[in-house]
Amino acid sequence: AEQWKQGVQIMYRNQTKEVRIGDVVIGGDHPIAIQSMTNTRTEDVEATVEQILRLEKAGCEIIRCTVPTMEAAKAIKEIKKQIHIPLVADIHFDYKMAIAAIENGADKIRINPGNIGAKERVQAVVDKAKEYNVPIRVGVNSGSLEKHLLEKYGGVTAEGIVESALDKVHLIESMGYDNLVVSIKSSDVLMCVKAHELIAKECPYPLHVGITESGTVYSGNVKSSVGLGIILHEGIGNTIRVSLTGDPVEEIRTAKLILKTLGLRKGGIEVVSCPTCGRTRIDLIKLANQVEEMVADIPLDIKVAVMGCVVNGPGEAKEADIGIAGGIGEGLLIKKGEIIKKVKEEELLDTLRQELLNWNK
Ligand code: SF4
Repeated sequence: AEQWKQGVQIMYRNQTKEVRIGDVVIGGDHPIAIQSMTNTRTEDVEATVEQILRLEKAGCEIIRCTVPTMEAAKAIKEIKKQIHIPLVADIHFDYKMAIAAIENGADKIRINPGNIGAKERVQAVVDKAKEYNVPIRVGVNSGSLEKHLLEKYGGVTAEGIVESALDKVHLIESMGYDNLVVSIKSSDVLMCVKAHELIAKECPYPLHVGITESGTVYSGNVKSSVGLGIILHEGIGNTIRVSLTGDPVEEIRTAKLILKTLGLRKGGIEVVSCPTCGRTRIDLIKLANQVEEMVADIPLDIKVAVMGCVVNGPGEAKEADIGIAGGIGEGLLIKKGEIIKKVKEEELLDTLRQELLNWNK
């Protein structure tokens, strides 16, 4: 995670205000922060801390926890003592939870003012946020569009989602607060893209970007990569969350690879591997997966190639810093296109690992 942070690269972004969430700043020229959400019961401090520490290790920079009860709001205080990244409290319906979450140390709160109820209740939350200088993420979701907007736009549309979000932003601004982050979500990827293009022109606040309810690890990864890929490539977005029905650590791995692929972050080993073909004589699929897992915690910024055969492998691996190419029961170790040595198939993984661990020596 450290290497990952050091490798931060700045590229042109849609300029927004800067917002501080604990010790992480998003917006302006700051790198796009990666976040995730715990799926433990927030009241269970031990389980929640354990999961957050795993997420931190994977590269998570901001964590969100649901706060559905007073016990959960109080748990924030204990959780925060044991973690090292800012904590966002996710609140639905009950404004008292938002107030309690802020009093217990939440670094940001996420609310949908539309489901908090009467204006006085939203005002009470805003006043508390102002008192503690805690940013509010105003989140709207295509599933909770107001009736008048559904009628105005003839159903759920990007324009409707944006109008709903801006209404809420204006409501909080009218209460004298502009320490805001905005999120608009839809599980329809292209609608989500369009909504972000529209709101980026109208809204000075940092945008939290994600494709909601995107599905299991497989479909969620594909939908998030397409949606976030387009939005981020247009220069829009200041913090991202990949939503997957799975272990949240997978969300971090995907988010990192999306940012790296787009040239928005550096750091970490990139593994390239061939698709295998009739020439492949070693179990390359297994080996490539083992290599990907093995390099995850090695703090180098290089490219590793895992190729199936000695005919095309060495040539195709030339652009990589180091690679292996399979033969029959053995493989070649290649550095910058030069063959270094022959290694038995069962020793390939370990040989590669040793090379990587000694890379800077
Ligand atoms: Fe086939 Fe060799 Fe190319 Fe892999 S590197 S796809 S095994 S020709």
